[in-house]
Amino acid sequence: MAEKEYEIVIVGGGPGGLTAGLYGSRANRKTVLIEKYMPGGQIANTEEVEDYPGFEKISGSELAMKMTDHAKSFGLEVVSDEVKEVYAEGDDRFVVCASGDVYKAKAVILSTGGSPTFLNIPGEVEFTGKGVSYCAICDGAFFRDEVIVVAGGGDAAVEEGIFLTKFGKKVIIIHRRDQLRAQKIIQERAFKNKKIEFIWDTVIEKVNGDDKVRSLTLKNVKTGESSELEAGALFVFIGFVPNSNITREELKKDEGGYIITDNAMQTSLKGVYACGDVRSQLVRQITNAVGDATTAAVAAEKYIEELED
Ligand code: NAP
Repeated sequence: MAEKEYEIVIVGGGPGGLTAGLYGSRANRKTVLIEKYMPGGQIANTEEVEDYPGFEKISGSELAMKMTDHAKSFGLEVVSDEVKEVYAEGDDRFVVCASGDVYKAKAVILSTGGSPTFLNIPGEVEFTGKGVSYCAICDGAFFRDEVIVVAGGGDAAVEEGIFLTKFGKKVIIIHRRDQLRAQKIIQERAFKNKKIEFIWDTVIEKVNGDDKVRSLTLKNVKTGESSELEAGALFVFIGFVPNSNITREELKKDEGGYIITDNAMQTSLKGVYACGDVRSQLVRQITNAVGDATTAAVAAEKYIEELED
């Protein structure tokens, strides 16, 4: 296990992390970004991005690749590794422990995003990989001509539901209320799609099957009535939990566990910044992550400059 010295260490390689990497390395600070999967974060698994200025339509993986190449062109190092813990060493240094190596930094930027929320119902874990999935772009093609069910009513559920109509003979979106949370423009697209049906006021209580998913047990929350729906797949998009527990020191968080920062993106621990979906804020879009990250990297640069004075 090697010990490596950097000025800025970025944890997480979504749009926020990559933007912080661009600004950190462009400021001539020795900057490394550590990401456990492929750089890109959630957009790497998004078929099409249509709300990133300058690109009317671009595939998520292409945007991720462009962001990565752009940041690397300024000297950002991208390492594939999993960060296990971050902690302060004295007043002006941080230790970032990954599975492979240990990284020392003057400033740390957390862009760790979130992980999918689980339904926590019987059969969910058992059938994960056998019909239960959290990634439409990864698994959609396995369910050609089957009935695909999507759980959730937010942007992710409705957008991914539309995407899944490419594969399923029918996509049924099951929502626990009678109104979607998704943006209106996305809702309208789904309402117009002939392959999408909705089941309202309903929760999924159980996943049933043998070697794969065969049906779901549903419950109408208004009438209390139970029913069984034949389906070959269940895609769960019911939000996510922030990956905000990576620091040994307890950071200030909101009630949802999202990291609270000041307007320079600094967390309650001096020298540690947060950006993107892990940060407490009203809206979670690529543009927010990119904006936050710009501020975080510029602020981290200024902070390091002050340490040097
Ligand atoms: P979200 O906006 O938090 O929506 C989660 C949905 O799942 C809600 O409709 C919620 O129902 C439902 N839900 C939550 N827990 C549930 C449970 N236990 N059982 C059944 N249903 C449950 O999450 P998201 O759609 O993953 O989006 C996360 C963030 O990313 C949002 O800020 C979103 O705007 C953003 N995003 C944006 C885009 C885009 O702009 N193109 C795409 C994807 C995601 P209720 O409505 O009743 O609460």
